[in-house]
Amino acid sequence: KTLDKVKALESKVESFLSITEEIAIEKAKEVDEKIEKGEEISPLAGIPMGIKDNICTEGINTTCASKILQNFVPPYNATVIDRLYESGAVPIGKTNMDEFAMGSSTETSAFKKTKNPWDLNKVPGGSSGGSAAAVASGQVFYALGSDTGGSVRQPAALTGIVGLKPTYGRISRYGLIAFGSSLDQIGIFTRNVYDCALVLKEIAGKDEIDGTSSPEEVPDYTKFLDGNVNGLKIGVPKEYFEQGIDEDVKKAVLDGIQKLKELGAQVKEISLPHTKYAVATYYVIAPSEASSNLARFDGIRYGYRAEKFDSLDELYIKTRSEGFGEEVKRRIVIGTYALSAGYYDAYYKKALQVRTLIKQDFEKAFEDVDVIIAPTVPNVAFNIGEKNEDPLSMYMEDVCTIPANMAGVPAISIPCGLKNGLPIGMQIIGKHFDEGTVLKVAHAYE
Ligand code: GLN
Repeated sequence: KTLDKVKALESKVESFLSITEEIAIEKAKEVDEKIEKGEEISPLAGIPMGIKDNICTEGINTTCASKILQNFVPPYNATVIDRLYESGAVPIGKTNMDEFAMGSSTETSAFKKTKNPWDLNKVPGGSSGGSAAAVASGQVFYALGSDTGGSVRQPAALTGIVGLKPTYGRISRYGLIAFGSSLDQIGIFTRNVYDCALVLKEIAGKDEIDGTSSPEEVPDYTKFLDGNVNGLKIGVPKEYFEQGIDEDVKKAVLDGIQKLKELGAQVKEISLPHTKYAVATYYVIAPSEASSNLARFDGIRYGYRAEKFDSLDELYIKTRSEGFGEEVKRRIVIGTYALSAGYYDAYYKKALQVRTLIKQDFEKAFEDVDVIIAPTVPNVAFNIGEKNEDPLSMYMEDVCTIPANMAGVPAISIPCGLKNGLPIGMQIIGKHFDEGTVLKVAHAYE
């Protein structure tokens, strides 16, 4: 049934880069057999899901929506995929994204443009726009994405669903093709908070082959969903409600906070004074790490190789010039510049120092409050093509989401209203490894 639904909707929404029909049927049969034998099954057994195309899947193309990896078939699964398969998950396909997760609209994909299911002329957000659209259009129950600066929360906001970026280190990054390694985290798209709690429980936890994954115990997140926010302290950061945030978005988020207050939460204005430097800092750190991570795509070890070349240098140059798209090249140039010997101290080192200040803002704020609530995105979904000529306006899509990646703290986006028939997202940010409280507040609001 799911495959029929996908076939019917895909021509309109274009969420997927590949459909894994055979594997889906095979996995579903395995679950059926378990049920027949009377074996115990996980709540995720037999449930159809989508996987962002930068998460490695053994035997299935993993392209990062890039020409350079168009024919790359990983010989291994990402840890999250192994864990989900063990739970009996059924993969429906690999979802479209901005090339190498660089973008906020899924338009930098080398292969197709995903549409927002609410209005097919609008973008679904990005970079995990395919995963968001697949869940929002009802093609799958949940999908995995990755969030380096907002790529799960921003598309979740723009498509009216739930999107969680957990604490840095909560979920193994093994098999997630790296963009900005110190910021990247695998995230989850669902249609409600309960489903998000279930999936998180399944994929979180220590992984011996990812040194940055945390040994912190993984609780049963569904236990937090009791609707009780009595006495809980909510911080409202004034910097997230200033210039540049649409009035209707502000109002919807403030109404959301009011609703939580009526449920018994205490609300307090707070300040995160370094917020205004977050985007600039991100666009030094993320491209720097990307320029280093993407050096491995050289035409020798992976994927695409230019056809004609006379020297090794020419092979590299032609392969990378032809294989990478414009936005990816822009990031590599910025990152290489920021890391170069003469500029390192002025840009990269400075950016790391500012990152520490942003992190300290959160630490200080969390001495007084349990969660912080703010808009996810300054506005609702925009038209396809609208921001293509203006990278800076595209970068501003992430002003409200980037700080959580800088600090490594968990954050979720949940729908909190509509503007002109398009969804608005409310962001709930928590303390390190306190996904439980984040989910609790999200669920109480829902
Ligand atoms: N939009 C941001 C960027 O282009 C964030 C992307 C992401 O989180 N992967 O870098």
